[in-house]
Amino acid sequence: MKADIVTIFPDFFRGPLDHGITRRAAEMGLAKIEVHDLRQYTHDRHRTVDDRPFGGGEGMVLKPEPIFDCLERMQLAPREQRLSGATKESVVVLSAQGQRFTQKVASQLAALDRMVLICGRYEGVDERVSEFLADRELSIGDYVLSGGELGAAVIIEAVTRLLPGAVGNEASTRQESFTADVNAGESDLADSTCGSGGLLDYPHYTRPAEFRGMTVPEVLINGNHQEIRRWRREQALKKTLRNRPDLMEDAELSKEDKQVLARMRTRHE
Ligand code: SAH
Repeated sequence: MKADIVTIFPDFFRGPLDHGITRRAAEMGLAKIEVHDLRQYTHDRHRTVDDRPFGGGEGMVLKPEPIFDCLERMQLAPREQRLSGATKESVVVLSAQGQRFTQKVASQLAALDRMVLICGRYEGVDERVSEFLADRELSIGDYVLSGGELGAAVIIEAVTRLLPGAVGNEASTRQESFTADVNAGESDLADSTCGSGGLLDYPHYTRPAEFRGMTVPEVLINGNHQEIRRWRREQALKKTLRNRPDLMEDAELSKEDKQVLARMRTRHE
């Protein structure tokens, strides 16, 4: 996968992409990340990337010309082809007004050969970029940041770890929070893990078994894989109900899950 980041702060990415999985994926040749300095695509002496908003109002807006110029140099497939899915390329504008970036979107992006991430600044990006150049707008959450750079780093990390081979143990990315693959981990009867099926992940513990009087749940130590798997699933259901009840609507629930939920409800009544 090739990822291109378009930004007025190229140095921002020195830190975030130089560690852990993103670094490893780059070293392994799984992901090639290129950061483009928008100012290099300006043509005036002051290297102007922004201007005042038409219609008045606060702040500045990123000008369209440098962004169009920058993307034209990338020699991407035409926008219609990208939008129809005829090519595995996508151009994304980071925007608080965008569709929410979720694990599902991350796995769609991970299937691409190339993604371009355009980082806004100030009041945002001239709307013609979203209208005529980019394929989609993505938001990393319902809050306003000062720039798209953190969002781009978030998207790159979430997508990179889904690339086959990027994470040491591939099964682990199939079992995580939000991931729809409910059967992940259930294929082997001796396996004590369970896929999240769109729920939050189950709680994890490591040694020591007792720390300052706080003990690890007994079930995890007894070695009974079936019991452990059941306990983990029950904990995932509990945590999802408590922290993110909205996820229950689309979660893939087995017959066993529904029984567990029914039991939890009667306990609370
Ligand atoms: N006026 C805009 C906010 C501009 S913030 C509004 O009210 O919607 C400046 C830039 O930060 C945006 O262009 C975008 O690239 C980035 N940004 C801000 N919040 C973001 C979010 N939640 N997700 C992704 N990018 C965001």
